[in-house]
Amino acid sequence: MDAQLKKIQQMLEKQCQLNKELQNQNQDLQRQLQQKEIHLKELQDRLNDFAGPSQANSNEIHEVRKSRAAVVAPEPVAEDLEIPASRVQKSASESAQIIKAISKNDFLRRLDEEQINMMVELMTVLDCAPGDDVITEGTEGDSMYIVADGELRVMQAGIDLRTLTSGDVFGELAILYNCKRTASVQAVTAVKLWCIERQTYRSIMTSKSKKKREQLMGFLKKAQTLKALNNVQLSKIIDCMEEVKFQNNEVIVREGTEGNSFYIILKGEVLVTKKVNGQQKSIRKMVEGEHFGELALIREILRTATCTAVGTVTCFSIDKEVFEETIPFESLELHDEPDLIEDVEKTEKAGLKTSLKLKDLIPVLYQEGSYQGEPITLGVGGFGRVELVTTLQHRKYFAMKKVSKKHIVAKRQESHILLERRILQAIQCDFIVRLHAGFKDSRYIYMIMEFCSGGEIWTKLKEAGRFEENIAVFVTACVVEAYAHLHKKGILYRDLKPENLMLDSKGYVKLVDFGFAKELSRGEKTYSFCGTPEYMSPEIIQNQGHDFAADFWSLGVLVYELLVGSPPFSSSEPQKIYAKILDGVMNFPPYLEEGAKSLISKLCRPRPGQRLGNTKNGIKDVRHHRWFNSINWHKLRMRQVEAPTTKLIRKGPCYINFDRFPYDKTKAEEEFSGWDRNF
Ligand code: ATP
Ligand code: MG
Repeated sequence: MDAQLKKIQQMLEKQCQLNKELQNQNQDLQRQLQQKEIHLKELQDRLNDFAGPSQANSNEIHEVRKSRAAVVAPEPVAEDLEIPASRVQKSASESAQIIKAISKNDFLRRLDEEQINMMVELMTVLDCAPGDDVITEGTEGDSMYIVADGELRVMQAGIDLRTLTSGDVFGELAILYNCKRTASVQAVTAVKLWCIERQTYRSIMTSKSKKKREQLMGFLKKAQTLKALNNVQLSKIIDCMEEVKFQNNEVIVREGTEGNSFYIILKGEVLVTKKVNGQQKSIRKMVEGEHFGELALIREILRTATCTAVGTVTCFSIDKEVFEETIPFESLELHDEPDLIEDVEKTEKAGLKTSLKLKDLIPVLYQEGSYQGEPITLGVGGFGRVELVTTLQHRKYFAMKKVSKKHIVAKRQESHILLERRILQAIQCDFIVRLHAGFKDSRYIYMIMEFCSGGEIWTKLKEAGRFEENIAVFVTACVVEAYAHLHKKGILYRDLKPENLMLDSKGYVKLVDFGFAKELSRGEKTYSFCGTPEYMSPEIIQNQGHDFAADFWSLGVLVYELLVGSPPFSSSEPQKIYAKILDGVMNFPPYLEEGAKSLISKLCRPRPGQRLGNTKNGIKDVRHHRWFNSINWHKLRMRQVEAPTTKLIRKGPCYINFDRFPYDKTKAEEEFSGWDRNF
């Protein structure tokens, strides 16, 4: 007993020592990172100094920050700001010139269309003779200029920096606040300038936003669900809303997908359609002031219709997560959205479920090669085989996972397989494989899934060696969306790896294999030791209890494997893998970009509480990481992003993207214990 205690004590001490070392290493790394960042900033400053403002942005007199940020003191603004009545008439080409200049400018192009139009209207003319100073370094500025005609010179401390010609913008910082000019601008030739003062600009902005708030308030008051809210609460909602623009034909919400946002139409028309007997049927058009998706704010719902932009559409939108943080749930009344039409899709789906019968499933056969004439096996996993089947009635391919019941019982996987079916059946997410039906007989359990014809990411990765960044970003983004869906429903995935990621015909990635999935409430931990060694998090290995954070760890491992071609902690012996994971030392090959390294390090932090995805803002922090800058998450969810993975998909017979397997003719033994009663 004593000896055992001593042994445990020694182990504990060793663990503590290890933890301390890891902590020290972490601190060290952090320190190094900070130093690097300081160094980088210095280099950047030097580069800016060296290159001068023209290099940074050819459209503006660039204000390089060389010292600590100065505070911007608020300027008193008159209460009754009036928009100046005087207008200078402009020809179409003059207006076009101003708009073009604005749209080229990094800051100005973020103004909305109406604001830009008002600016165009309110710009005045300033004529200068050669040699005239337009702005003088060190003085306070109050106007912004666009060159209509002629040539000007930009100088800083007497040094010529660059020349401005027609279409160039300068001095735009002055329309934001009262600041000192950082350079002088002098006319070289006779010059015509378009000019606008800060006060004018401000009145545009103020009056515009005041009007907009009033308008939005009116719109929000029309939403049934928000009826119980007072003006203060509604105003708070407006503060959190964001303007989103949609192009012609862009899908804003798609029927059958999870609802996450509420929209008010500010401008344009939205077409509402619904799938009826497999055809898209239009229901009605919605116009300015109408809203949709309000139920998504307070309930877990699937969208009951598709809303598509007709022409360009501007909406004001709020996310469910933000909404929940803003408004206490109790203050809302539940009002059902008017039923647009009865849910035909549902019956259609039920149709597929009831019309799919085990006896109607026909194996699809290899058409050539050494297995010609044999049934196609798409994959063989630890528990079963997945075969390609079809039916005469549906003329569609299905992937049929077939697992020996005897094997399940022998490996004590009964509850896992029951859960796999229950979870897959309940989930409707474009990033997770659909389960159409489940069957059983005396020997096997069958799961009939949608066929992901593009093959496994694993196969593609082995073919490519490693993926280009854009492919890895896309694949990971799809997994993030699948995770978002699962975690929100309280489901842990626990088996992320390239082998469980399949490509559909459009190159979108879907999670398959829910054999290790687990239902878990927030704050709860689970203690089973499971997963694939290379992808296991330290807390699983140490049996400390794990939760959703373990999925984020494996996401980091996945990103690494996609970019490098092999996982960060690997060995032919599992115990060596575990040791490496606990050591936590990750070697990044030199070609890995900073963004990827940063994401991987943040996802693979040893402490689950500090892992990206598991901190305060949850999965949002993952989506907002700079490695995903190129991803438009909304479009991805709507499946409107062109998948870079399509180039990995081969064209040919339906099995061309899969390895080939000989058909297994042996029949599994029968099993009658009855554990599958509810399957
Ligand atoms: P594991 O050993 O990973 O637990 P498993 O026996 O539970 O495996 P799955 O991972 O579900 O089985 O499937 C095994 C393989 O079958 C996959 O890796 C994939 O190649 C193929 N496969 C699975 N589902 C589909 C599908 N819907 N469409 C096409 N191929 C599929
Ligand atoms: Mg698998």
